[in-house]
Amino acid sequence: MLDFKETLKSQLNIVDVVEQYVRLKRSGTRWVGLCPFHSEKTPSFGVNADLQIFKCFGCQEGGDVFTFIQKIEGVTFFEALKLLAERSGIPMPERARPQDPAGQRRETILDIEEKAASLFESNLHSARGAEVRNYLTSRNVSMETARAFRLGLADSSGRQLLQRLKDYDPALLEEAGLVKRRDDGSHYDYFRHRLIFPIHSESGHVIAFGGRALSADDNPKYLNSPKTPLYDKSAVLYNLHRAKAAARKSDRMIVVEGYMDAIGVAAAGIAEVVAICGTALTPAQARLIKRHVAQSQASTGNVMINLDPDRAGIAATEKSIHLLLAEGLRVRVLTLPGELDADEFIAAQGVERYSSLCNSAPRYFAWLTDRAKQQFDITSAEGRVDAFQYLWPSIQQVQNKLERSELAHEIAQALNLDPNTVRDRMRGRNSAQPRQPDVFLGIPPAERLLLTCMLHSDQARTLALPYLNQSVLVRQLSLAPPFEAFLALERERVPYSFEGLLARVEPAMQHILQQIAFDDTQLDPETAAEQAAECIRALETKQGEADRGELRKQIRRLEQEGDFEEAMRLANELDKQVRASS
Ligand SMILES: [Zn+2]
Repeated sequence: MLDFKETLKSQLNIVDVVEQYVRLKRSGTRWVGLCPFHSEKTPSFGVNADLQIFKCFGCQEGGDVFTFIQKIEGVTFFEALKLLAERSGIPMPERARPQDPAGQRRETILDIEEKAASLFESNLHSARGAEVRNYLTSRNVSMETARAFRLGLADSSGRQLLQRLKDYDPALLEEAGLVKRRDDGSHYDYFRHRLIFPIHSESGHVIAFGGRALSADDNPKYLNSPKTPLYDKSAVLYNLHRAKAAARKSDRMIVVEGYMDAIGVAAAGIAEVVAICGTALTPAQARLIKRHVAQSQASTGNVMINLDPDRAGIAATEKSIHLLLAEGLRVRVLTLPGELDADEFIAAQGVERYSSLCNSAPRYFAWLTDRAKQQFDITSAEGRVDAFQYLWPSIQQVQNKLERSELAHEIAQALNLDPNTVRDRMRGRNSAQPRQPDVFLGIPPAERLLLTCMLHSDQARTLALPYLNQSVLVRQLSLAPPFEAFLALERERVPYSFEGLLARVEPAMQHILQQIAFDDTQLDPETAAEQAAECIRALETKQGEADRGELRKQIRRLEQEGDFEEAMRLANELDKQVRASS
């Protein structure tokens, strides 16, 4: 297994793998980009091709190519291994297949979700589904569309799934989010008498369900699967598995509010549509959108927000604009006339009209300025300042200088403000760059540089190891654990690898080690060995001074205690040391 991991790793380049998810720019031996694991505007995410590792200095995520895939795809180690093997066309040996309990459990839950989806689907198309089929027709959803989206019906008995999936442990069905347990320990179906929308993963597997109430007195109107090992509502977009290819091609993603909206738009032939299925877009969803529309340098990443025109929808639009701008995407806002949802509008006015409104939708800024004008009295100076304050957070999100100065012009015009004042205010932005947490605090520079040299240079290692081996000093260093790990590798005759080193230190020290690995600004690869030797001299001198300080203290104490003989002996020792060091 581990052999296969090494084989695979040796054939992969972490830079290529990460580039499928993150736009990277070269900077020396490193590649930098915006971190996919947290929201940021200035890149603090780095990939080191030398060491084949990645590290984010903002959120501290880091590791090798397998860790990266595990984190970004939300899979186990074995699944990451399988995925990378498949992508690179390297067959995975049969014996390497998982004895991975977490991965196997997920596979079983996937099977369960798929079986449940089929069951719901056949309910809808059976005799008992007649009423719901009528409802769908009245909402302009054809049976062809219903089948394409695998719409279904949850039986009202509350027992159907439990009975039909009785081969599975009810605890597993509960983990899959399909049944609930009563206080007496018995179980019942989670979805009862609801129109079912299967929710798919990015790769097209059913991972959860949304259920719409069919009677007016059933609450809530929409019920979603609870959080499961496969499903986290805040990190999933409905219809993404169908929309992603079209989004890449058209360099655009349309974001609508609910299942019916997405189905209405997609069924009308506009494939690049996803639904947030929640109150507002989340940061994880914004990053997901970015991954699919901003794939190459050439693409600009256009996002069209088309949420419901009610008060909640407007608030959600404002919030979504900020999140999408923070991801560097280009945002437009589509407000449909007549207070209609996307699917209602298409049913009433046709897809051509929807399409043309989409293409002419105002940039987010025009939309926000309209909002400001509605909220504040811009005929008064005070109102204009309030309006500007309202727009300010969005202005701050804009990265592109040209775009910013165009904005300054637009806002000044719209709010009747002095353009120079607006521009000055905008120039003042970004004065405070986010500071990286200083984990190096308290670590002597000589130790840091010595470690850096040893991480990157064979010669430096060859020079430093014998010294570390015979020196008592090692244990007293701030970075003792990694230095001792170097010695352990040598003792065990394990060839040096950065990963091997990491495995031998505590998590807190792993972070420091990863940061040091990336911080090679002081390293001169040509003279790494000489640099290492200098560091060792500096550390010895420092240690010598510390030792002599300690000696002096002891001498003073002995003198006070009247032990002049011992004091004299130590004084001679001190004298010897002073002469040796000068
Ligand atoms: Zn990060």
